[in-house]
Amino acid sequence: MSDSTAYDFIVVGAGSAGAVVASRLSESGLYRVLLLEAGTKGSNHFWARVPVGTSKMIDDPAVNWCYKSEPDEGSGGRRIDVPRGKMMGGSSSINGMVYMRGQAQDYDHWAQLGNRGWSYQDVLPIFQRMERYEGGSDKFRGRNGLLRVNDTPRNKVPLLEKIIEAAGGIGLPFNSDQNGETQEGIGMSQVTISGGKRQSSAVCYLDPARDRKNLVIEQGAMAETLILEGKRCVGVRYSVGGVRREARASREVIVSGGSINSPKLLELSGIGQSELLRSVGITPVHELRGVGENLRDHYSPRLKFAIAARNMTFNDNARGWRLAREAVKYALFGTGFLASTAVPVRMYFRTREGLETPDATISILPFLYEMVGRQRRIAKRQGITMNANVLRSESTGSIHIKSSDPAVPPAIHFNFLSTEHDRAGIVAVIRKGRELMATSPLKEITGEEIAPGAKLQSDAELLEWVRNNAETTYHPVGTCKMGSDPLAVVDRELRVHGIEGLRVADASIMPTLTSGNTNAPAIMIGEKCAEMVLASAAARKAAA
Ligand SMILES: Cc1cc2nc3c(=O)[nH]c(=O)nc-3n(C[C@H](O)[C@H](O)[C@H](O)COP(=O)(O)OP(=O)(O)OC[C@H]3O[C@@H](n4cnc5c(N)ncnc54)[C@H](O)[C@@H]3O)c2cc1C
Repeated sequence: MSDSTAYDFIVVGAGSAGAVVASRLSESGLYRVLLLEAGTKGSNHFWARVPVGTSKMIDDPAVNWCYKSEPDEGSGGRRIDVPRGKMMGGSSSINGMVYMRGQAQDYDHWAQLGNRGWSYQDVLPIFQRMERYEGGSDKFRGRNGLLRVNDTPRNKVPLLEKIIEAAGGIGLPFNSDQNGETQEGIGMSQVTISGGKRQSSAVCYLDPARDRKNLVIEQGAMAETLILEGKRCVGVRYSVGGVRREARASREVIVSGGSINSPKLLELSGIGQSELLRSVGITPVHELRGVGENLRDHYSPRLKFAIAARNMTFNDNARGWRLAREAVKYALFGTGFLASTAVPVRMYFRTREGLETPDATISILPFLYEMVGRQRRIAKRQGITMNANVLRSESTGSIHIKSSDPAVPPAIHFNFLSTEHDRAGIVAVIRKGRELMATSPLKEITGEEIAPGAKLQSDAELLEWVRNNAETTYHPVGTCKMGSDPLAVVDRELRVHGIEGLRVADASIMPTLTSGNTNAPAIMIGEKCAEMVLASAAARKAAA
């Protein structure tokens, strides 16, 4: 069965960026917008609202694509989990809710690569416009946007105070706004949580837009290929519950499927490396060598330390009467650890002299967790976990389709630790984590180093441990990168090179990693894309 309907714009994917694009394009009422989302769950899904739900959704195929990487040398031959949100709000509905823009230099670097309009000075007003945040300075922060951002309350929790004091002891003073003038130091995480509830892009951008007559949202709608007429994109073929449909866009299609699924959709549609497409039985339509290349992510070992004092960590709060007390606190006031990100404090620092800005981060989880089958559970033992990573890793990998069947997951090759910069950086970050734990007043309560374990000391031993144990921090970017070099997929207005009527807007367009988490940048990319699409539609209208 086929149902062909005409829209002005079709947006594929209701994730961090796509939800924003669809919301903004439909805001004026001038354009008919179709938003296709493969996931079936909405923003009211219980675990997507309760902040602690991240751990429940990280391997739940009902809301997550649950991809895995291909084994490679950098991961000691392991397959690494690549969770990606598959629901309204995409990964912003399952993520750790940390809100981090990155550094001014990240965007200046994008502009220096030839992407005019993407310098920090250019994107700062967009960040300010999109957020609703009370702290920091007006020079850097926004007060009236749609995205509610808050500080994790400091609340004088004894363990967190000790961590903050110890960080001061190693030269990392408290920074009350790591999204402000400087990122450096230790700070409470800013989070997309408000009133004890997650603030995904679906909650903040789509829920208020639901009643718009010109915005049609189809959930459970999996885009399978783009409809191309010559070198122009005119629509999307998709399936809903096994039923094939197609929709036409008279103006543009915007692909916002995320860093794994956007290049996959382009390849399924015949856009990419011709020989690779032919090898899986797809007739190439447009040669674009960069599709699926330039995959970057934050490779992150988890350091674990026992805490030899009682009632300090979430481990104690997560059982017995304390858990019951937390549940009541959450139900009545929307506070407590059930309402918190797992990562309340973060350090940004330089691993060596001569650097202008931080090149590394450690996110501190005030608890230990363990794997029970595929489920992460809070451990009985008290301790601290540190997610440690280099901020702008240089190793690049790829993601490519293995079959012309849209249901077959793509091959994801990270190729981690393939540059000396990344190898030296990660060893330095581990040493910094150890230094923190060996500094007063933390050292007085620090017990055993559980991972990597005090026995491992040389660079080679630590690297071997990283290869065999690290995970990612779930920040894949770069697979449809913006630029004008031979591997660029989109131009600085996010238009796919060589194809009319088609843009990509999501984390895949980042030429390099931002210095931190990627949700805020992805939302900014959605805002900027919508702005550019509306400007060009208005210009065309005026010219007609
Ligand atoms: C477990 C986890 C924790 C994270 N923690 C943080 C954090 O604390 N802070 C932070 O800043 N970042 C975090 N991130 C990363 C951040 O959330 C992502 O970088 C960001 O959400 C990416 O946005 P996006 O728009 O590129 O893609 P997504 O938000 O992933 O959106 C893509 C959407 O497109 C849909 N889609 C894909 N293909 C199709 C198709 N063919 N047809 C229809 N729909 C399709 C998907 O279902 C999805 O809804 C985390 C990510 C994960 C997975």
